[in-house]
Amino acid sequence: MNVAQIYKDAQALLEGHFKLSSGNHSGFYLQSAKVLEDPKTAKLLAEALATQIKESGIKVDAVCSPALGGLIAGFALATALDVRFIFAERVDGEMTIRRGFEVTEGENYVICEDIITTGGSALEAAKQVEADGGNIVAYAALANRGFCSREGSDLEAKENCKLPLDKPLFALEDFTFEMYSPDDCPLCKDGSVAYKPGSRGN
Ligand code: ZN
Repeated sequence: MNVAQIYKDAQALLEGHFKLSSGNHSGFYLQSAKVLEDPKTAKLLAEALATQIKESGIKVDAVCSPALGGLIAGFALATALDVRFIFAERVDGEMTIRRGFEVTEGENYVICEDIITTGGSALEAAKQVEADGGNIVAYAALANRGFCSREGSDLEAKENCKLPLDKPLFALEDFTFEMYSPDDCPLCKDGSVAYKPGSRGN
């Protein structure tokens, strides 16, 4: 499966000159939600991710995703694994599990995101599941932005990866893009202007 090509075809992997939320510039941008716009593609990707998890032999009882970004990927993964799906959401900045979702003592959870950057939201969701008595057995994402280390890839975790190193991260692809400070951006030097995806209606 050529995951990068699937992202490109779905216009979820953009090429251009982008201003990232960190303030840095990049020639690439992942618009992660776009790859899930076609439910058939979402199903295909989630099934590939589920296969990795099943082959690892890890027993999973449920998937939990941090809202909003992880919802569709998590639901699709839970469908492919044939397990329950719940989500955590931020209320006044605090990640919480509400809406009648119950975590049972000793249940095994996979925390699922659409994309793992540093994994901050995934870790917060995991802490909520653990606080309610659940076990975190793995993290999962369709795409890994390259700050954390995933199963089956040689890429090493960077300092800013927030995910615990003793839990596996399953993801379909590493998307490591070169980033530039605005003062030292070759794309700026070529005379183009960086823009923030979303600010022009996309
Ligand atoms: Zn630039």
